[in-house]
Amino acid sequence: MGYVFQTQRWSLHDGDGIRTTIFLNGCPLRCSWCHNPESWTNNSIQPISVEDLMKTIKRDAVFYRASGGGVTFSGGEPTYQTEFLRELVKNCMLLGIDTAIETSGYFSWDKTKDILEALDFVFVDIKHMDSQVHKKYTGVDNKLILENIIKISNMGKKPVIRIPLIPDVNDNDENINQTSEFILKNLEVRGVEVLPYHDYGLYKYKDLGLDSKYEFITPTKEKIEKVKSRIKKHGINIINY
Ligand code: SF4
Repeated sequence: MGYVFQTQRWSLHDGDGIRTTIFLNGCPLRCSWCHNPESWTNNSIQPISVEDLMKTIKRDAVFYRASGGGVTFSGGEPTYQTEFLRELVKNCMLLGIDTAIETSGYFSWDKTKDILEALDFVFVDIKHMDSQVHKKYTGVDNKLILENIIKISNMGKKPVIRIPLIPDVNDNDENINQTSEFILKNLEVRGVEVLPYHDYGLYKYKDLGLDSKYEFITPTKEKIEKVKSRIKKHGINIINY
């Protein structure tokens, strides 16, 4: 049994083809811009069995095959419910269903390595290259995350690196250059996807009685393009899902 706060069928932005995205509860981070704070606890959610979730997943199997799609595990941090995720990935594998993960990269490598090996595709965030700034805005430093990203790449997974673009936090030239240099020096990636901050999740903080610690603004189109072209100048592919 595990905790899932949303299941989205016919998803087109979480990987190749038509996908079912499963949002798993639990996250060891507390990003100040998180638009899914409801994932942080299991409050008022009934647990679901692997078997029941597989029934939903299997419903669209024909569409995954036809479109090159599959299942994407998101969250929260999907590796947080390690055993539940392991079982789901294993069951998809047995059915020949393609699997992807959207992860913060913050997990124990030893406990999660086998799951990553079994997954077909990995999206992983780099939120900030400065460890102290990373800690200020997410609650954890970036050491484990950067180490794990290198290990994922060394596995031959060619991840997509996602940068959540937060104005006045990580959109400055220095951080974008450092992120690009880290990728070039250490990784083999499919590309970088820039995800501009949006405030659609703000109402959830009020509903949950949570304080949103900082206020952020949505990046302008010009800013987004400037950041993308800076990354491209380093010879890194920009990807948009
Ligand atoms: S890693 Fe993702 S789910 Fe977790 S707090 Fe950050 S934005 Fe939210």
